[in-house]
Amino acid sequence: MVEFAEAKRIARNIVKGVCPEGYGSLCEAFKRLRGQFPSKSESWFFRAIVRSLVSVRKVGDRHWVVAGIREFGDNHPLYNVWLSESGKYMCDCYYRQWGYKRKAEICTHIAAVLLVKRQRWLSEF
Ligand SMILES: [Zn+2]
Repeated sequence: MVEFAEAKRIARNIVKGVCPEGYGSLCEAFKRLRGQFPSKSESWFFRAIVRSLVSVRKVGDRHWVVAGIREFGDNHPLYNVWLSESGKYMCDCYYRQWGYKRKAEICTHIAAVLLVKRQRWLSEF
């Protein structure tokens, strides 16, 4: 895990296309995520990358906990992300923070989990 200010510096570079030394697998994971969600903003990817560096913890086979970051608008200390049997990611911020109307959106808690998972796969090579 990386310190918050350092994570922000790393994330700022990655979204600008500058890959810091030692973060090759995260940069690859970011490129894939951006390819998957081309309409998302630079700040959305920035938040996802910072979260992936400081706050994602696997707590079960299909369950992750992502620490809330006040600066990113989180009002809770922890968020739960689940992967359903059908392969759909769910986050409890959908219910607690935004209401049901945001249910179809992918949040940066889920995006952070995707970044961590993809780095693990990539680093296995
Ligand atoms: Zn969320």
